[in-house]
Amino acid sequence: MVVEELNAKPLFSEHELHEPFMKAIVNHMDEGIVVYNTAGKPLFYNYAVQRLGLVEGEHDACVYYHSDGQTLLGEEEKPFRRVLAGQRVQGEEIWAVRKGRPVVILQIRGFPVYGERGELLGALMLFEDISNRKWAEQRMEVSEQRYKSLFEHHPDIVCWVDLQGVLIQTNDAARHISGYDPEQLQRRRLSSLIAVEDRTRARDHFHAARQGKSQSYEIRALHRDGRRLDLHVTNIPMYVGGQIVGIYMVAKDVSQEKRTESTAHFLAFHDPLTALPNRRSFHEHLTELLDKARVCGDEVAVMFLDLDRFKLINDTLGHAAGDRLLQLISMRLKQGLHRKYELFRLGGDEFTVVLPSTTCEQAAEVAGQIVRLLSASFPMEDHELHITASIGISMFPCDGDDVDAMIRHADMAMYRAKEYGKNTYQFYTSDLNEISQKKMRLEKELFRALEHDELTLHYQPQCQAGELALTGVEALVRWQHPVEGFIPPSEFIPFAEETGLIVPLGRWVLRTVCARHMQWRQEGCIPVKIAVNLSVRQFQDEGLVELVKEALHESGMEPAYLELEITESIAMINFDYVNTKLTQLKELGVSIAIDDFGTGYSSLSYLKKFSIDKLKIDQSFVRDLTTNEVNYSIVKAIIAMGKSLNVSLIAEGVETEVQMHRLRELGCEHIQGYWYSRPLTAEQLQERFLQRRASSGQRERERLD
Ligand code: C2E
Ligand code: MG
Ligand code: MG
Repeated sequence: MVVEELNAKPLFSEHELHEPFMKAIVNHMDEGIVVYNTAGKPLFYNYAVQRLGLVEGEHDACVYYHSDGQTLLGEEEKPFRRVLAGQRVQGEEIWAVRKGRPVVILQIRGFPVYGERGELLGALMLFEDISNRKWAEQRMEVSEQRYKSLFEHHPDIVCWVDLQGVLIQTNDAARHISGYDPEQLQRRRLSSLIAVEDRTRARDHFHAARQGKSQSYEIRALHRDGRRLDLHVTNIPMYVGGQIVGIYMVAKDVSQEKRTESTAHFLAFHDPLTALPNRRSFHEHLTELLDKARVCGDEVAVMFLDLDRFKLINDTLGHAAGDRLLQLISMRLKQGLHRKYELFRLGGDEFTVVLPSTTCEQAAEVAGQIVRLLSASFPMEDHELHITASIGISMFPCDGDDVDAMIRHADMAMYRAKEYGKNTYQFYTSDLNEISQKKMRLEKELFRALEHDELTLHYQPQCQAGELALTGVEALVRWQHPVEGFIPPSEFIPFAEETGLIVPLGRWVLRTVCARHMQWRQEGCIPVKIAVNLSVRQFQDEGLVELVKEALHESGMEPAYLELEITESIAMINFDYVNTKLTQLKELGVSIAIDDFGTGYSSLSYLKKFSIDKLKIDQSFVRDLTTNEVNYSIVKAIIAMGKSLNVSLIAEGVETEVQMHRLRELGCEHIQGYWYSRPLTAEQLQERFLQRRASSGQRERERLD
């Protein structure tokens, strides 16, 4: 037997190797040996083959499969057949499936055996059991695949970083989340992907992981497009053979959660409409500031800002317009005020401004600045809106020691500013406490006054400039309080407007005026036109037209003798509404005058659209008409404008003869004021004007008509 290539350099020559040795070698070999004759019958096999259970007697004791473990080997495909057919079999893998025993994987080599004359004697087949190695390899592969699946398909970023902080491998999620392709990430320094402000912290965690500490933390990273990502990172040391050879980083993208969290936080402390900090922020901010100020001995100012007539805008232009206006106001104030002054929206039309480390003078300056900032109109969809604000200021520590006292006092001061004609600011003074209590009391009492006839009407005569003849009167309400005495309308009309009491009050005035007119007529007096004041709140009242109609009807007064005075603030109300109401009133036969003209913001174009009969030039222009050039020009312009609109003109508050002459020169036809007469009681008026002229009644009536 020739053992081909069994040993490159045989120790013994063929003849020297005695059979017992040969047998010992063959039988003690780990490798299985089978010798087949040319007919494919096993002639010989060693112990290893027996052990492996491959051959039994003259037959194969197992079934052979290809190395895939699935396909059976055909007879001709069997390795010894192929060797007998002259092929070489060198290290092929096949599976041997044995009865009742585990599958064994064999590595097979085969050699043809030739006789001395070169004739084929058989095939020598060598079988090595490589099952253990194979199974180990397969196990490795499975675990590798499992790991790979975990790595590749993990929804979070998983990356392998070497101990120098260089990225070695990244998964697919890394590409999705960071925007970088894997090639761009490979060999990249990890720190270059972390937001600058978080790099030191990231480095500390990385060092800890290198020391074997697995840690989790949150960090901001940079997306490829420059945006920041919030990541929740866990560093896991990578051990091989007990040594840390790298770090696994698992990073979850928590940007969305962070955003939701910060939105929730934002909403808790901000007003969603204007994005300004809200009442809660205001409380916290002020508490903190007062604590600090207590220690440092600083002064702090709190400003309470309330928009004048905002409710009117909301009610007439709608809430969307109101909201838009609030946004524009917030923006203007935010941009106009110094950054160190914090602006808050408490709700509705209430804002606060907090001034840290300040003085009364500075606070006054800032309040003045706010008034100026608001003075320019606000562009709305189809028109411009004018709005003013009343501001109350309280100073820490003199006006209050804690947040509540500061707010309460600033609020009281704000109400004082409203009483002073709005569009202004007021500081808190200790007497305001008393005043606000008095106001609350008065509010209740006004209600009672209406029921108990404590209100009365005075009538202020009007005449033609340069002549002393009475041309009309204006009815002015008075309150004769049983304890407080006489209370002027400027004190109770504003809060009658606030509380809505103005509506029943106005009804009373109108009915009283009509009744009085009829009474005078019955007593033979000369009838004159009587003007009645209507506040905006009354004008908005749905029942106004009906009320006027009723009052005229019930009393029998001719509508031509009734004049209704409205103010320019109606310009704030929805145009269509004003137009409809004015038309309806005019249809009743009454005339309409614009009171206090020149103090509001109504534009000429706006007024032109309505059928107005009269403009009453406000007394503030008349007061220093003779000394103030500006006022002189304004009055002149108003008169010219009135003439062009073909409305009659009357000047209010005329106190001197010089003023009267000047007005007459300018072309103002009528005047009203102390120079001609103070407001009179009904009896005084009757006595001094109406009755005395009874004789010339016809002439007066002609003038009136
Ligand atoms: P108004 O309608 O502009 O009335 C003119 C005000 O000027 C009156 O003040 C009158 O007394 C005052 N006055 C008249 N001539 C002179 C003058 O020569 N010099 C000065 N310094 N003042 C003069 P009064 O009566 O205090 O009324 C104040 C305001 O209260 C009125 O201003 C009007 O807006 C409102 N008011 C009065 N009565 C009523 C009413 O029945 N209903 C409504 N809604 N408001 C009323
Ligand atoms: Mg008036
Ligand atoms: Mg007036």
